[in-house]
Amino acid sequence: MVDSEEAELLLWISLLADDIGPRRPTGVAERRAAEVLAEGLSRLGVDARLEAFRGYSSFALPFAITVGTAVAPELLPRRLRRLRAGLAALAAGMLATEGSLRFAPLSDLLSRRPSQNVVATIEPSGTAERTLCLMAHVDTSRSGLMFHPRLVGWMNTWIGLNSAMIVAGALGEPLSGRSPNLRRALRLARAVLLGGLGVLGERERRGVDVPGANDNASGVAVVATLAAELAAEPLASTRVVVCLTGCEEAGTLGARAFLREHETEGWLFLNVDNVGGSGSVRYLRREGVIARWDADPGLIAAAESVARAEPGLRMASEDAPAGLTYDSSPVHARGGRALTLSVQDGFIPNLHRPSDTVANVDLGGVRRTLRAARGIAAAVDAGLADGPR
Ligand SMILES: [Zn+2]
Repeated sequence: MVDSEEAELLLWISLLADDIGPRRPTGVAERRAAEVLAEGLSRLGVDARLEAFRGYSSFALPFAITVGTAVAPELLPRRLRRLRAGLAALAAGMLATEGSLRFAPLSDLLSRRPSQNVVATIEPSGTAERTLCLMAHVDTSRSGLMFHPRLVGWMNTWIGLNSAMIVAGALGEPLSGRSPNLRRALRLARAVLLGGLGVLGERERRGVDVPGANDNASGVAVVATLAAELAAEPLASTRVVVCLTGCEEAGTLGARAFLREHETEGWLFLNVDNVGGSGSVRYLRREGVIARWDADPGLIAAAESVARAEPGLRMASEDAPAGLTYDSSPVHARGGRALTLSVQDGFIPNLHRPSDTVANVDLGGVRRTLRAARGIAAAVDAGLADGPR
């Protein structure tokens, strides 16, 4: 049985996942989705506008360039020792900067295609003492062998392994002239990296853009619904900023653009991603793949207060979340204050699969997350997340 709250959430989800469909980063459908969301929000009293930025369509692009550069020394003759060592070091440099989600020259260079965030501000009824930014990404991912349910659990390990081999290549290459064993080890490492490139290529060639009902029309539905509520009945002392991002699946580019363009010092960020499952509403205490970041203690305290007050929401903390980076990750990377809500118990249902459809969304999970987010916003407004000033 679908109650009125679930019916409202379902409208947003089917608008994105059914009416518009797959929303590839920087694509026409991603643009259309942003326009439709801005119109829909404005009709509900949330004065939303689009903020343009430049991005690219797939995380595979910087990843393939980095891995390709790491493998390249193997293809060069041994006498070009300096060039080989230089390429190996360049690959490690690209890995470190891309992984930082901050200073990422490769990403900047590749960001050529138009994308956009949907942004709105809701002023409080009294004087603003703090700002809470509600985030969710609009864009969708592409399927591929790497997201097969039997393999997806290994993704973090796989990325960690690839990263270790890129670093090992940079450290080992300058020394490899002296040791045949080291040369063999480097060759093996690069063969593994090449295999990884093959997996990426499989996704680009054979994968399909998925409808993204759970990932992340569900999160957008929660943020849009809550934003409409707060526009009708503003918080007392908390300014609410809505940021529905593009290009999250291409390396959290929308969130990064937003953080570049806005002065967000001291803001609190509550991100909602993949909340259409049947599991626990998780607040992610830690996130990140290569670098790891802790979520904001104030927001965790706010989440815990809601979890205690409303056990029916089935809220729980999570220290080792499924999935890779989130839109909260670049906030953490800048030393900011953020927390992500995601419905997951060890895995995210239908993640980056063609089966990520409206029919497979558990509306109960979306509704529990809406209530959790509403409770956290109220707790933040009551000062629960305020750190020492
Ligand atoms: Zn997502």
